[in-house]
Amino acid sequence: MELRIAIIGTGRIGAALAFKLGFEQYVDELVLADVIPKLASMVKEDIYHGLALHGISIDIFAYEDASKVREADMVIITAGATRKPGISRRDLAEKNFKVVSRIVKALFPHNEDSWFFVITNPVDALSTLVSQLTKSEKVVGTGTCLESARLRAYLSRTLGVPMSSVDAYVGGEHGEQAVPLWSMVSVDGKAIENFLKRQDVANYKEEAEKYIKNISSEIISVQGATMWGSAGAFIEIIRGIALNTGRVMCFSMAHRFEEVPIPIHVTIPAKIGKKLGPTTWDILLEDEKRAIIDAAKAIYETYNRGKRSLDL
Ligand code: NAD
Repeated sequence: MELRIAIIGTGRIGAALAFKLGFEQYVDELVLADVIPKLASMVKEDIYHGLALHGISIDIFAYEDASKVREADMVIITAGATRKPGISRRDLAEKNFKVVSRIVKALFPHNEDSWFFVITNPVDALSTLVSQLTKSEKVVGTGTCLESARLRAYLSRTLGVPMSSVDAYVGGEHGEQAVPLWSMVSVDGKAIENFLKRQDVANYKEEAEKYIKNISSEIISVQGATMWGSAGAFIEIIRGIALNTGRVMCFSMAHRFEEVPIPIHVTIPAKIGKKLGPTTWDILLEDEKRAIIDAAKAIYETYNRGKRSLDL
């Protein structure tokens, strides 16, 4: 199987992901687009050099205008403004709703069968927007993928176990209302309560939650952006769709809730593949479900905030 994958926005995340995709066997063509003059074509050159000694031959095309992208199997949207220290993801809504809606309107007529994979923040509100604009069921947001990777890293390090022993999931909103799903966390198949003294459990969970919610601001304040965590984590969702793995992962797809008037992109761990789902909703605890519904309501508010800045 050979895929054409387009990346719109070849800044830090877009370029890191493009490089990683160069090593994926199912990728035949990468199409890069960025509005900064020559940026996509220089990222293209750099990636070719990174692949050359590995003997990897793929075609890479570069454009300054996203509307040049045609018949991609997947369009990855990572274009837009980024968080600065003190600015939340939700605060990017007005700016990035404009950027992403323009991109989707330019691209969709030439890529109607494509998967749309949204990374730009606020990612859950923006993937909801892309679903609304395209009316396609093939829209996925990265959701709390990164939080789930961060929780795995935290558990592995603090419990002193290999990363491969840890299974951990985070649902809800990417950002403030991320919900660690402790009922789905295990180490070598056992609940983490088996690895901690009983009196330490609550404090441990609190510290873990603080870590997954605050570490990106710390990375951004020093490094300017997060890159490798995103590129490494998101590739697993792309692989899931490309190879139809059926692995349960954290990503956001449109879900209906009585409390919200439109289908909202929020994360409930689910099987990823050429079809999305089923989700793990039925095995979650009541308070976990409630927290995910609250997150969906918050995402809807951000969606409305962004939408007000558009002429829809
Ligand atoms: P960056 O500034 O390095 O790159 C963004 C790129 O988008 C820039 O090169 C810019 O020129 C380009 N761009 C802007 N408008 C465009 C358009 N209309 N067409 C094509 N390109 C356009 O930023 P980054 O660090 O790569 O982050 C990108 C986005 O991803 C941000 O919104 C950031 O908050 C988000 N992000 C999301 C997650 C997640 O978990 N979903 C994680 C990290 C970052």
